[in-house]
This record gives sequence, structure tokens and C-alpha cells, in this order.
Amino acid sequence: MKNKKTKTPYKKDLSYNPDKLAKSKISRINIQYEAIKFLKAGIKITIIASSLDISLTHLRDFFRGIFSESPKGGQMPTIESLLSTQSRQIEAAIFLEIYIKFAQSDYKSIDLNNLIKSYNCYEEIRTVLNLDKTPKWKKFDINEAWVIAKGLISRRIIFRRCSSGCAYIEASEQSTKLECPHCKLTNTTKKKLTK
Ligand SMILES: [Zn+2]
Repeated sequence: MKNKKTKTPYKKDLSYNPDKLAKSKISRINIQYEAIKFLKAGIKITIIASSLDISLTHLRDFFRGIFSESPKGGQMPTIESLLSTQSRQIEAAIFLEIYIKFAQSDYKSIDLNNLIKSYNCYEEIRTVLNLDKTPKWKKFDINEAWVIAKGLISRRIIFRRCSSGCAYIEASEQSTKLECPHCKLTNTTKKKLTK
């Protein structure tokens, strides 16, 4: 007589949920789509990794797939090094004024979609102001713009507006209040012209 195997009673697999599975697949595809969009915008993989909660290995693979080369390493610049001159502080204020409009009141973290939108706007404004044709003025790249936005969130940079309505920034460590750099620049030019 054959030894009849006892059948395992049918158990309903509660973890299997086709709807949930499809949703998680869609969200994974969305994350990949976002990652590729951010990489194409030139955002560093370390920033994307922490924003999308995606591994650096995956991002390096995506990067190689898009650009046929490995992503460049290197440290992020410090806020101090980015704001070392008056013209750079004005550039930062131009960028932040746009960024604040896109981010609205969401200052807890940096939404990379908002970063891209505000960065594109910043580039357009620079062109309108002819800043890209003046060697003294140096455009921030998108990762430097991220550092500046991060500085605003962590309150290491304070965004201010002077009595004449110009937007400018101040480092929170600064003990003495600076004169608005725009007005200072205009006043210096006026003095030079009247001499
Ligand atoms: Zn001013």
C-alpha cells in the first residue's frame, strides 16, 4: 500500500495582496523615474539617495546607464565658501527668493522637484539680468543651490528684506548686522560717479 502523503490543508496567504503588490511596483517605478529625472538635472547621487531613500549602488547604476560614465565624487562645498563675496551673497539671495516661493511654507526638507523648478527660474533671471555675461558674477550649480537652500532650512542663513525692498541674506553667526549688499553696491557706485 502506498504511503499516502497527507495533504497540507490549504491556507490562505494573507500577505498576498495583488492590489498592494501592484501599488508597490508603481511606487518603485515612480521612484526610479524621479531618480533619473534628478540625475539628468545634475543633482549629486548622495543628495538623491537621501531624498528618495534609494541605494547609492542603484543610483550609480542609473548614472552609468544614462551618461556612460561613473558619477564624480567629491565633497559638498560649505555655506561659508559659497557666500565668501558680496556678489555671491546677492546671487544666493536671488536664488533663495525664488526657492521660498516654490517651497512655500515647507521648510522641513528640500523637495528636489522644487529645487529644480527654482533653479531653472534662477538661471532664466540671471540671463535676463545679463549676469551670465559679467565675469564677476558666477552662477551657482544646482548642488551649490541645494547647499544654500539647506542653509535656509537649518537657519544658518537668514533671508531678509531691506527698507528699499531688496532681498538679501545674512549668516546667522554674524553678530553685527550688515548693510543691505544691493544698496551698499548702489551707494558705492553713486559715490564713485560723483567723485
Ligand atoms: Zn537694499
